Amino acid sequence: MLAGILSLQGDYSVYGHILKSLGSGYLYVKTPDELRQVDSVIIPGGESTTMKKLAKENGLWNLLKQFDGPILGTCAGIILLALKSQNPIEENLGRLNITVMRNAYGSQINSFSDTGRLLPDGEKVEMVFIRAPRIVDIGTEVEVIAEYKGEPVGVRQHNILGFTFHPELSDNLSLFKLFFKLSSTKKAGVV
Ligand code: GLN
Repeated sequence: MLAGILSLQGDYSVYGHILKSLGSGYLYVKTPDELRQVDSVIIPGGESTTMKKLAKENGLWNLLKQFDGPILGTCAGIILLALKSQNPIEENLGRLNITVMRNAYGSQINSFSDTGRLLPDGEKVEMVFIRAPRIVDIGTEVEVIAEYKGEPVGVRQHNILGFTFHPELSDNLSLFKLFFKLSSTKKAGVV
């Protein structure tokens, strides 16, 4: 299995180090040809507006709308996977039936780390939020898989995972294990 890491902008190299340490094959994806080679995609944190512009310019935007393997998006990544984002209002990839509010924790508190919970088992994990969005609306077929102070911060729709925090910046590997499990399952949504 080859995991693709969208590498147009943002903290993609951290994912390279993690996948390497977990023994997973990976490819930094910047072109349509590279996207066609991978079985799954990680969309990292960064600046969603810049990443969206570059994805369009590089011919990746429409391919990401159709990509049928698992996708994991964190922070800017979940913004791009959402149906809509607010602040400003925009339509995004629509791979997750959710609406997110960009930079929703305010301008002063740009970044913080705290303990949240993975659902359904309630496992406590450290969550790092960096100018994070908030999930403000959740539509059908979307399951909440992580929460912080009673708010959804991680969701799953079939084989698409999105987190408003940065799982790659804490030690907990549960979410990567879920992503790998989805990646090794041929049919979507059966894990
Ligand atoms: N605030 C950024 C955005 O709106 C996301 C920040 C991040 O990915 N850490 O795109």
